[in-house]
Amino acid sequence: MKLPEKFVFATNNAHKLQEVRDILGKRCEILSLADINCHDDIPETADTLEGNAMIKARWVKNHYGYDCFSDDTGLEVEALGGEPGVKSARYASAHGGSAHHDSRANMKLLLEKLNGVTDRKARFRTAVAMIIGSTEKIFEGIVDGKIIEEARGIDGFGYDPIFMPEGEQLTFAEMSAEQKNSLSHRRRALDSFMEFFDK
Ligand code: IMP
Repeated sequence: MKLPEKFVFATNNAHKLQEVRDILGKRCEILSLADINCHDDIPETADTLEGNAMIKARWVKNHYGYDCFSDDTGLEVEALGGEPGVKSARYASAHGGSAHHDSRANMKLLLEKLNGVTDRKARFRTAVAMIIGSTEKIFEGIVDGKIIEEARGIDGFGYDPIFMPEGEQLTFAEMSAEQKNSLSHRRRALDSFMEFFDK
């Protein structure tokens, strides 16, 4: 399949947008939701990452007409049965805590839940949903790692300061953007996404 010349990435998260432009930007023009004047609060009501990613992509296709892709990411902690998973963005608020997308509160809650737990295995999982014309597809990317005891590093976003990928000595928040982008869950999902297109 041919890569569209203009492709909407259904996000207004500046970090994600930069990561995706760094990875795909040479091959096509990536537009954000703001670039297409979409300021809707798109409902993320599915109970899976794949479901939420597809809701966002269909919203853009149906309301704005653009070929589109979107991602939804979750941090899955083994000792917590895969939590926070699809609830990663609203983890602390779902527990009666602070605002949606409050990364510091989310990390604090997660570290509290893992207090005294020796199995720290975790993975980031990204689902990418794509719609081109009438073709819909889902791609996945996973990076295995562990949750460290205390936050380290100031770069990145979300849970980056407490996640250390397998085989590394740095958290995502201590890595340069290039280093994170070379091995991240989003990178892996986008790699399999790009394999779908003509070289
Ligand atoms: P969403 O994909 O924007 O819904 O992200 C869900 C949650 O996971 C949010 O709290 C994000 O901050 C967090 N998240 C998504 N991608 C990353 C990442 O690359 N590193 C750390 N946290 C992330």
